[in-house]
Amino acid sequence: MKYESTRGKAEKVESAHAIKAGIAPDGGLYVPDRIPHIDYFKYLDLDYRKRALDIFRKFLTDFSDPELIDCIETAYSPEKFDVSGIVSTVRLNENMSILELWHGPTYAFKDIALQILPCFLAKAVEKTGENKKILILVATSGDTGKAALEGFCNVEGTDIIVFFPKDGVSRMQALAMLTQEGENVSVIEVEGNFDDAQNGIKEIFSNEGLCRYALENEFMFSSANSINWGRLLPQIVYYFSAYLDMVKQDTIEDGEKINVCIPTGNFGNILAAYYAKIMGLPVNKLICASNENNILTDFMITGVYDTKREFIKTISPSMDILISSNLERLLFELTGRDEERVSRWMKELGETGRYQIDNKTHKKISSVFFAGFCNEEETLGTVEDIFNKFGYLIDPHTAVAIDVYDKYIVSTQDMSKTLIASTASPFKFEKSVSRAILGEDRVEGRSERELQRELSEETNQEIPAGLLELHEKKILHHRSCRRQDMGKIVREYIDKRSGK
Ligand SMILES: *Cc1c(COP(=O)(O)O)cnc(C)c1O
Repeated sequence: MKYESTRGKAEKVESAHAIKAGIAPDGGLYVPDRIPHIDYFKYLDLDYRKRALDIFRKFLTDFSDPELIDCIETAYSPEKFDVSGIVSTVRLNENMSILELWHGPTYAFKDIALQILPCFLAKAVEKTGENKKILILVATSGDTGKAALEGFCNVEGTDIIVFFPKDGVSRMQALAMLTQEGENVSVIEVEGNFDDAQNGIKEIFSNEGLCRYALENEFMFSSANSINWGRLLPQIVYYFSAYLDMVKQDTIEDGEKINVCIPTGNFGNILAAYYAKIMGLPVNKLICASNENNILTDFMITGVYDTKREFIKTISPSMDILISSNLERLLFELTGRDEERVSRWMKELGETGRYQIDNKTHKKISSVFFAGFCNEEETLGTVEDIFNKFGYLIDPHTAVAIDVYDKYIVSTQDMSKTLIASTASPFKFEKSVSRAILGEDRVEGRSERELQRELSEETNQEIPAGLLELHEKKILHHRSCRRQDMGKIVREYIDKRSGK
């Protein structure tokens, strides 16, 4: 299988090359040149690792089985994930099951992809005969940064610099990154919001002078953001796996169509669910849930993507995004792989901050997706409500999804069984969750640690060990910069690592 760019102006490449490069040289995103069909039912009695292996085989055709097995065993091991199934599917009631995606080392769904990406990448480097060191550049709205640091720290042949927006991440998220150990890691705070940091990274990738400078010093840039195919692919697996778990739990019959509802930011997780659907997973609607940064809701309803709006900081910060990069891949698929149209829209987006898709493509979106959003009060209300009804604690991102799912039912009366993607442990967002569960007056003036403890006592749920440890760790990273200085920081890092 080969990979082509959504903008059509780059050569087709093998998966190893696509993973190594992260982004295509024409600025587009790499997509497989055909989407394989999967007889998922034959996976029924296999464990998560075996399900993953078979799906990876179909897409990473230039990797050998021993290579894939090595990556899977390193990434999806009992030391790294605290449930044997890697993900866990929990039935809340007749209609609603929760797909817990946060059992990895940083308690966010991004671990599932970022634990395995470094191994894919290391093998990709080997296979392509690359002799440069890979310098991973990451912009993060919170969870990606820590998950990428954990995944890449001390991985031979790689270095990683993480940029996170100042005040754009929770205190615990910042602490998790700033205390990261490892020879090959650097963490920088950027003034501005997530889009500033992400745009800064995009500029570095397209800065020819800087790329040349890196190469001269034996480095090449790559990305661990969800624009990298190696990050998207592992996410497809858990939708198949969760579906089969629902069959095994007698929640659904084989072949029964389910809805999948996903709290969405950069559009990676929901795009993986879309790929699962077109690969043959029985999915009815994909429900795209946003917070008050509801640009995707507007886009899906009107067909106009308009970034000229206020960026709102919410209590579900990993979804505070105005430019959802992976939407480009969806548009590529829905236009019948029309790279001209996709390039034109992306050019308009870059130049004017806005584009409008044609009617036909818009209709296709409406037939597959339902979009909705929820405000801050509704988010907190849902955390409280789900705990009161089911004794089940959720984080604010998951709450956004459940709130939008409720709106979906009201608007469509569709009672198909629904899988809700739960993307983070509630203890990572202890402040907002405590406001919902303990009440405002018990939160005021309390430290993160006190809140976690009280929350744990009140709800009878354990604080994940890795989060408790954070409070004891030393802050190791102290630098911050302006967005326009991100390139300079990267240059300095290269100098430092090459002993200048
Ligand atoms: C990254 C993230 C999201 C958004 O996922 P995308 O793939 O970017 O759409 C949602 N919730 C949490 C907790 C996240 O970390």
